[in-house]
Amino acid sequence: MKEIKYLILGAGLSGLSAAYHLHGKDFLVVEKSDHVGGLCTSERKNGFTFDQTGHWLHTKTTEVKALVAKLFGDDLIEVVRRTHIFSHNVFTQYPFQSNTYGLPVDVVKECVIGFVKAYYENDKSKASENFYEWCMAYLGEGISKHFMIPYNTKIYTVHPKFYASHWCDFYIPKPTLEQVIAGAVTAPEQKNVGYNATFRYPVENGIGEFPKRLFDCCEKEKFIFNTYPVSIDAEAKTVRLSNGETVKYEHLVNTIPLNKFLKLLENQPWAHEMAERMKIASVSYFNAAFSKPCGHPGHWFYIPEEKFMPYRVGSFSNIYSRLAPEGKGSAYIEYTHQGDSCDVGLFREKSVGLLLAMGLISSEKDIEFMDYRKIESGYVIYHKEYFDDMKFVRNWCREASVALAGRYGKWEYAAMENAIIDGMNAVGLDVKY
Ligand SMILES: Cc1cc2nc3c(=O)[nH]c(=O)nc-3n(C[C@H](O)[C@H](O)[C@H](O)COP(=O)(O)OP(=O)(O)OC[C@H]3O[C@@H](n4cnc5c(N)ncnc54)[C@H](O)[C@@H]3O)c2cc1C
Repeated sequence: MKEIKYLILGAGLSGLSAAYHLHGKDFLVVEKSDHVGGLCTSERKNGFTFDQTGHWLHTKTTEVKALVAKLFGDDLIEVVRRTHIFSHNVFTQYPFQSNTYGLPVDVVKECVIGFVKAYYENDKSKASENFYEWCMAYLGEGISKHFMIPYNTKIYTVHPKFYASHWCDFYIPKPTLEQVIAGAVTAPEQKNVGYNATFRYPVENGIGEFPKRLFDCCEKEKFIFNTYPVSIDAEAKTVRLSNGETVKYEHLVNTIPLNKFLKLLENQPWAHEMAERMKIASVSYFNAAFSKPCGHPGHWFYIPEEKFMPYRVGSFSNIYSRLAPEGKGSAYIEYTHQGDSCDVGLFREKSVGLLLAMGLISSEKDIEFMDYRKIESGYVIYHKEYFDDMKFVRNWCREASVALAGRYGKWEYAAMENAIIDGMNAVGLDVKY
């Protein structure tokens, strides 16, 4: 039996980060696919470069900034975000809550009055009950009705009453009363708000260049591909692999989706029950190539209205012209759903309708191709039992020398920077986010 100090499951950014930071030590990475990078990979077709929908790099920690600087030097562009909401046939500025100018007057009125009422009257202590209550407490009825509830119901596939709100304070801008009123009566400018107001991106080859450069600094002989764990005996600290080998480890680093990991555990009936409770939304998307530049210069657009099936549309070529051949345009169109429930034909038809309604294309003839893709594990849903379950599983893992890392390994809403930090922490560093 092979004995290894660190066994790492998955070679996405978090597994790669763990491997990178273990340089010179005893470790093995087991990856199911034939390549590194996980969600952070890019593909090329007919001169267009596509990532797995938008993957824009925002970093705030010294450690990740230093790693990115070491890997890329000057080979990154810096972009100031241009994002919009498309609803009621108009484009408004992000964030919706402080930029209602331009919407129909009745909608603006509802949003402002709702915000003022929430500001003075609503019970903020209810905000922690669920995401719906958070929206009502801090943003009020109108903003919730016209953006927060429909948009988030689309992205998470369930109504905000059914999931927690603890992540909102970081990811959702809370405007002041002055900002809401000013944004309702004056033509807005792009404002530098939110965690991703500026971001960076590789000069060449799409975001897939990030894991590629990280992998180039790793000991490649310590990676095995096209192989996955079949069962895990956490008491004996052994993992049986699909290639027939059994590996004994001292420390196990899990970056594969936690629900799948739990189902591999032998003699842990609680783990299987918990895995059944865990919910995640899948993301279907199109890589769309156009024979002309996009008819609007925005980077990405949030689509709250129910009549449009996608929840978000972004333009690769608007963000970085080198992602499409000269004189052409490209986009990604995203839709979330449970499991295999995406009707791809309908999604395509609705996507084309949306692109036309937004004016990103002027005719269906502008489309050179639209390739369908799917991300099986997309958005973790913070269901009712989430916090108790996660507390239990994280304690159990700590006792069992299992480190959970990455958006799916840890089962949370997180970005590429978190994946890098999680990989560091999984192998004994102590980096705070
Ligand atoms: C739609 C969408 C948009 C996003 N946009 C951004 C963005 O703009 N900016 C940002 O910073 N972040 C973004 N993210 C988040 C970002 O993609 C993740 O945080 C990050 O890529 C997670 O890396 P990871 O290594 O933890 O997981 P993954 O990338 O999922 O890697 C896991 C690896 O494990 C492998 N694997 C899976 N199952 C097994 C198995 N059974 N055995 C062995 N290997 C297995 C997979 O093949 C994969 O290589 C976005 C995510 C989504 C879904």
